[in-house]
Amino acid sequence: MFDFDVNISFLSGMGPSKATMLQKELGIFTANQLLNLFPNKYVDKSKIFSINELLPSNTEVQVKGVVIELKEIKQKRGSRLVGIFKDGTGTMELVWFRASKWLKSSIKINDSYVIYGKINFFNGNFSMAHPEMELEANYKKSLVSGLQAVYPSTEKMSAKGFNNKVMSRAMQHLLKESYAFIEETLSDEIVQELELLTKREALLNIHFPKNQEQLAKAQKRLKFEEFFYIQMQLIRNKLIRKDKIKGYVFEKVGPIFNSFYKSGLKFDLTNAQKRVLKEIRADMASGAHMNRLLQGDVGAGKTIVALLTMLMALDNDFQTAILAPTAILASQHYQAISELVAPFDISVKLLTGATRIKERRVIHESLEDGSLQILIGTHAILEDKVVFKNLGLAVIDEQHRFGVAQRSKMWMKNDLPPHILIMTATPIPRTLAMSAYGDLDVSIIDELPPGRKEVQTVHRFDSSRLRVFKFMRDEISKGRQVYVVYPLIEESEAMDYKDLQDGYESIQREFPLPDYKISIVHGKMKPADKEFEMQRFVKGETQIMVATTVIEVGVNVPNASVMVIESAERFGLSQLHQLRGRVGRGGDQSYCILMSGVKLSNDSKTRLETMVRTSDGFEIAEVDLKLRGPGNLMGTQQSGVLNLKIADLVRDSKELHMARNMALEVLREDPNLLLPKNTPIKKTYQQIHKRTSIWANIS
Ligand code: ADP
Ligand code: MG
Repeated sequence: MFDFDVNISFLSGMGPSKATMLQKELGIFTANQLLNLFPNKYVDKSKIFSINELLPSNTEVQVKGVVIELKEIKQKRGSRLVGIFKDGTGTMELVWFRASKWLKSSIKINDSYVIYGKINFFNGNFSMAHPEMELEANYKKSLVSGLQAVYPSTEKMSAKGFNNKVMSRAMQHLLKESYAFIEETLSDEIVQELELLTKREALLNIHFPKNQEQLAKAQKRLKFEEFFYIQMQLIRNKLIRKDKIKGYVFEKVGPIFNSFYKSGLKFDLTNAQKRVLKEIRADMASGAHMNRLLQGDVGAGKTIVALLTMLMALDNDFQTAILAPTAILASQHYQAISELVAPFDISVKLLTGATRIKERRVIHESLEDGSLQILIGTHAILEDKVVFKNLGLAVIDEQHRFGVAQRSKMWMKNDLPPHILIMTATPIPRTLAMSAYGDLDVSIIDELPPGRKEVQTVHRFDSSRLRVFKFMRDEISKGRQVYVVYPLIEESEAMDYKDLQDGYESIQREFPLPDYKISIVHGKMKPADKEFEMQRFVKGETQIMVATTVIEVGVNVPNASVMVIESAERFGLSQLHQLRGRVGRGGDQSYCILMSGVKLSNDSKTRLETMVRTSDGFEIAEVDLKLRGPGNLMGTQQSGVLNLKIADLVRDSKELHMARNMALEVLREDPNLLLPKNTPIKKTYQQIHKRTSIWANIS
């Protein structure tokens, strides 16, 4: 037997000092943890290059030859050591930036070495700085395979001589002793169906790959497994939630829905809208509580889907509410929806912080007696005084503006929680949706209504500003309206307000009264003033709206055709995408102009190029994920995707898909993992559950 929980100090070739080092530096205490310390990378030592074969494009190479000369070269501080290295085909230089006595004496002249390192090419000559050197005689003995694992390490470790060779040797001992006892952690069925390596083979090849192919297989197996157990957890949570949290049953699609569908809709729904409605309908009729994310790019038509969903609630004699993040948005929803349902006998009210006391009283009463069917509002809806008679469905617009606490507060108003539909225009990369949001249901409207013209996007440097002004004038003369948006970031708030003010003044000079009228909206204004300026623009009384990002979410002015974004390099991709979504809402060709300085970081360049290249929100979200990593995207914290040991959310989407499908298949057939064939899965699942904190955090 082999005890995988044994403390590493008891392993062969380890001893207390090395063990202490591993514990302190890498947090490794047990044999099992060491076995699961995966290499950072591999170096290919299967090939020995000759010097005349080297190419400037080679990165890290291995060369065999002799040092024929060592020179110490004085420099400002201390000296540099340079060696002339020669094989049968040519010579190259080896460089050490700090010559030390020890170094000089340890290199043997004219003995055959195998050296390894990064190649530099300069003035037609190759050189290698700080090569790893091994005498050819030793090299032959130590060679395990062509591909050598490089393990995570720290400065303290290398200072104490705990280098990669030591680690590799420890791993070799450990594998030798434990190999026969490594248990399979997936079912045989999965291993066979997906043609995976067994757990044993995978661990052996992740540490000591036979060749590239076996390494790839080992990685695939371990990545799959990592995703698989996260998916098992997420899907199980979802099943448990559906099982335990009962919801209202919306049995029928009734006359309100049907008559609106027949005569209230001014257009045909897109196929995506129809599909999503079906998903929602099935969910709300199931008897379980709905907790669904409705994703769709800006302009994809989420509002109408939400409205139709709300009508289903009305048909089943329930009340319904929309919760919006700002008063401006709430009143836009209110206007749009009350207009749409005006021909039908449906009561709708708006409740925001600005609602008068008298009106409030009316709303409170009609909510309690059930005569008010649709309430649209802001946080004001969440106040204790607001009591619904029977709230059956809450639609939440732009979820990231509301905390979960607020969401659950709404749930408490009745014995059963209302169904929840969260609308978001921030596309979430599919990989993330499947992991971070794996226990939420997701509906995606992935099709824009027909006839939309893609917004033309260009990037201009600040030096072209006069041309941009001319373009704005031309568009305004056609009767269009223009947004000019400035970044406003907390850390640089004072400067940003100055930029905004300067920009506003220069626009006032370029676009003088009485021909031009300009609105300005920013966060320091009183809500009533903001609303007033906004309304002037909405009504077309002003042609230019100068604003900070307060307009980011949801404002709908179909006549606006130009979005100028100042200092665009300072905005994140999803913000740029949101802002661009403010134009292109009418029938006219619209434009987005990204203004920036000439000095751009690589990331800024990528962001601007991406915006110019595509308007596909999902593609943009994928680029965003690549640039920022999953850590900065919402929802990742709870999901464990940040604690991945070997898999990568961006690169390994194939394994993620495989894992999700397989986890679904397993749980569909055997929700409680009672079948004998699933015993290894159950055991592993329970172990993971017990051992790592991320699993504890999820549930
Ligand atoms: P978002 O998803 O950004 O909330 P909206 O619901 O505001 O999008 O819809 C954007 C515009 O598209 C609205 O003017 C809406 O009336 C219109 N629209 C929605 N669905 C369709 C459709 N199937 N065909 C044509 N126009 C549509
Ligand atoms: Mg909307």
